[in-house]
Parts: sequence; structure tokens; C-alpha cells
Amino acid sequence: MKEIIADVTVIGAGLTGLTTAYLLSRKGLKVKVIDQNAWAGGQIKTFKEEGFVFESGPNTGVVSYPEITELFQSLNGECELENARESAKLRFIWKGNQFHLLPSGLTKSITTPLFTLSDKIRILGEPFRAKGTNPDESVYDLAKRRLGKSFVDYAVDPFLSGVYAGNPQTLVTRYALPKLYNLEQNYGSFIKGAIAKMKEPKTDRDKLATKKVFSCKGGLDNLPLTLANKIGKENVLLNAKEATITPMEQGFDTTFNFENERISIKSKNVITTVGGYSIPRLLSFIDEQQTSSISNLIYAPVMQVGVGIKNTGSLKFNGFGGLVPSCEKRDVLGILYPSACFEERAPQDGALFSFFIGGRMHADMLNQTDEQIESMIVKDLHTMLKFPQGTKPDMIRIFRHQQAIPQYEASSGKRFEAIDNIQQQYKGLILGGNIKGGIGMADRIRQAFQLAELIK
Ligand SMILES: Cc1cc2nc3c(=O)[nH]c(=O)nc-3n(C[C@H](O)[C@H](O)[C@H](O)COP(=O)(O)OP(=O)(O)OC[C@H]3O[C@@H](n4cnc5c(N)ncnc54)[C@H](O)[C@@H]3O)c2cc1C
Repeated sequence: MKEIIADVTVIGAGLTGLTTAYLLSRKGLKVKVIDQNAWAGGQIKTFKEEGFVFESGPNTGVVSYPEITELFQSLNGECELENARESAKLRFIWKGNQFHLLPSGLTKSITTPLFTLSDKIRILGEPFRAKGTNPDESVYDLAKRRLGKSFVDYAVDPFLSGVYAGNPQTLVTRYALPKLYNLEQNYGSFIKGAIAKMKEPKTDRDKLATKKVFSCKGGLDNLPLTLANKIGKENVLLNAKEATITPMEQGFDTTFNFENERISIKSKNVITTVGGYSIPRLLSFIDEQQTSSISNLIYAPVMQVGVGIKNTGSLKFNGFGGLVPSCEKRDVLGILYPSACFEERAPQDGALFSFFIGGRMHADMLNQTDEQIESMIVKDLHTMLKFPQGTKPDMIRIFRHQQAIPQYEASSGKRFEAIDNIQQQYKGLILGGNIKGGIGMADRIRQAFQLAELIK
């Protein structure tokens, strides 16, 4: 067995693991990252074909925290953050047989056909409605109580589809949307809370959280690839299989198969950034009763289909894309327009679309064959995006993610407790990743900063 000594071993070369390892190596620590995949980036992967640049996983993030700007600034232009065009603020919601603009201002909110007249009137009373008392209230129940059913159906439900590919009835607000939950808890109302937040003075650092939609110049995977380069290729061990961690008197021993031999990394600290399903095997020295509260985390399956059209003719696509409320009973969750948001994602007269299919409520869609999906896309190009009937994509690539997005449902409290207990019991072992702390890329980067701070 080959032995390596390090200060920190990071399991998982996704965005969380690579950002953490990069920050730690900048502090002068000796860090090793291992991943069972053959590539660095985890769920983030960019493809380039026939003039289209498309993603198999996430398409965009939001600069929700200062840490995102700080990370890109620290990379000194080696990977450039690309903000989406202003028009990406336009978002559409499917109702009936077409996409409608999601209103932003007051006037448009009054005229939109998305919400019922009674809910539009009822929303004026939102600031005066009583605060909820059930801490485990679902997003559906909370939003229906405060905003009305049509707002749940045509705003909250599609928003949750877009973020969680989830079911509003089972996602628990305080875990899934903590900011929204806190608006009600701290200010008594979403509207009052949002106004109060807007008035709060902002420090220069707060202003780095621009709230803009971002990708990277040339595709999202430039970020993990740049981070891996900075950490040093020799410190990122890919295709590392059958990893297990064992506590030692001082620190931990991580062993795994790599290039036909068993490797052992001995380090004072180990940080895991893997999905909940990987935890029992990785930490097999911990009682299964304890790890089962982590491994029972449900992941929504998602299929993403990259669709390229080389010439859209007279059709022009502006905006972020369209989302489909579940009550509309269509097969797709949403269609994003990446080439409308970012430079050089499609040939000059063409467009790139990203179809999201499946999710918690339509998991069976991932069992459809490629042929079935392709004919569904051809149909939707006509019915939803209004291309002439029979228009065929010039490029189509189907990506299935069986364990895509963790669902922060009622079991989350027990999961967070189990994580805390394990960390207390085994000092130096830290459980990060999307099992806690949020599911989006911005959450992952922020968590990496927090994890790196824990190691002195
Ligand atoms: C289809 C899809 C669409 C998404 N859309 C968006 C979006 O629009 N906006 C957004 O902000 N976020 C989006 N996300 C979420 C975003 O991709 C994640 O937040 C982020 O990439 C997760 O990074 P991570 O490092 O925490 O996890 P991962 O990227 O999952 O990395 C974990 C790594 O651990 C490795 N690993 C697991 N088990 C082991 C083991 N036993 N041994 C060794 N290695 C192991 C895995 O191979 C993997 O590389 C999307 C995700 C998917 C799947």
C-alpha cells in the first residue's frame, strides 16, 4: 500500500470539495482531493459540439453571497465570471397554451393572467396576515396561507421546480427556503420583510452579493477545472474507487484504489463533500443507525436535454427561459435559454435550449428511452417554443442524473443533528456538501469558505 501524508483529505472533487481544497491550499496546507469520477467538477460539466456550448448539470448560479465574487476575484482572470445579460431578468411561466411573462412591477402584476383576481386583491392583505406556528410547514402550505393558491400554482410551484425539481407539499420551508421562512418569522410578512431588508444599510462586502445570474466565460466547468489546476493536478486524484475512512489515534486514514494499487492518505482532517447516499460506505466505522439519518436524504432525479437549433429564423428568444407549473400537467419542468443569457453558447443565428424533465413529481420520466425523449422534444419545439411543426434539433444531448438535487424535507432536522453528533464525536472529521447548507452553487461556494475557516 502506498502511503501519503497530508494535512487535509477532501472527499469529492465537485464545486464544494475543490473550492474548499483551493482555499486550504492557499493557506499553505497540504491538501489531497479524491473523487471516484474520472473528471473534476462533480455535477458541473460543459460540452462543446457543433458550435454549441452546453451544460450537462447546472446552467447558471446566482451571486447570492459575497464569497462568489471573492472566489472569482482570487482567480485573477484565469476563470472569468460571466454575468447574464440584463434580459435574463425576463422569466416566463406556462399557462394554457403559451408562456406568459412573470410580472415584476405592480402594474404588470395587476394585468397578468397568471394569478386570479381574488388572489391579486388578497395579496394586499399579506402584511397583516398572522404568522405561522408550525415550524415544519411545507412551502405549499405556507405560501398558500400567505399568498393564495394561484400564486402557489403559478409562481411558487414553478420556482421550486426550477430550483429543487421538488414537490412544494413535501419541501419544508425552514430547511428548503430558510430566507423566506425567516422573512415571516422575523418580520411577520414577506412584503414587510422584503422592504425592511431593502432598507438595511449594506457594507462594501455585502454589495459583492450582486444577486446577478452567472456562469463562466466559455462554460461553467472552467471554474472546477481552474480550481483543480490551482490545487495542482498531482493533488487531485480522480478515478479513486472504494474509498473508506478509518479514525486513527491522531487523525484519519483514507484508503482507496487508484491506478491499480491501494493508496492510504493519513491526515489530521478529513472533509467529505459527497452525497448522503455515499456516507455509510465511506464512514463504515460509524454505526449505521447514525448514518442512516444522513443516507435517507432523498434526491430528485433530473434529466437535462441540451437542444441546439442552428437557425431560428424569425423566432427570437430573450430572457432566462420558461418554467412549467405542475398543475399544467406537461412533461417538461422548464426550458432555459442559455444562449440568450450568455455569449457564444450557439452559432450566430442559432439558439441553445436546456430542457429539464423529471424531478420529484415525474421521476418515471427518466425511464423514457432516448427515442421517446427526442420525439417529445420535437413536439415541444413546436407547441411550446412555437417553431414550425416538424422542426428537428441540429444538436440534441440527453443527460440523466438519478441523484440530482437533494430534497430538504421533514427529515432534515434529524440529518443535521446526526452530522453535528458525528463531528463532535470524531474531531477533525467534517461532513460538508449538499447534505446541509443549501443545494445551489452559491450555497456550495459559501459553505466551502466556512469549511476552510474551520481548519487552522
Ligand atoms: C441537473 C442539475 C441541474 C442543476 N441546476 C442548478 C442550477 O441551475 N443552479 C445551481 O446553483 N445549482 C444547480 N444544480 C446544483 C449544483 O450542481 C450543485 O449545487 C453543485 O454542483 C454541487 O456540488 P458539490 O461539490 O457539493 O457536489 P457534487 O458536484 O455532487 O460533488 C460531489 C463529488 O463527490 C464524489 N463522490 C461521491 N461519493 C464518493 C466516494 N465514495 N468516493 C469518492 N468520491 C465520491 C462524486 O463523484 C462527486 O464528484 C444542479 C444540479 C443538477 C444535477
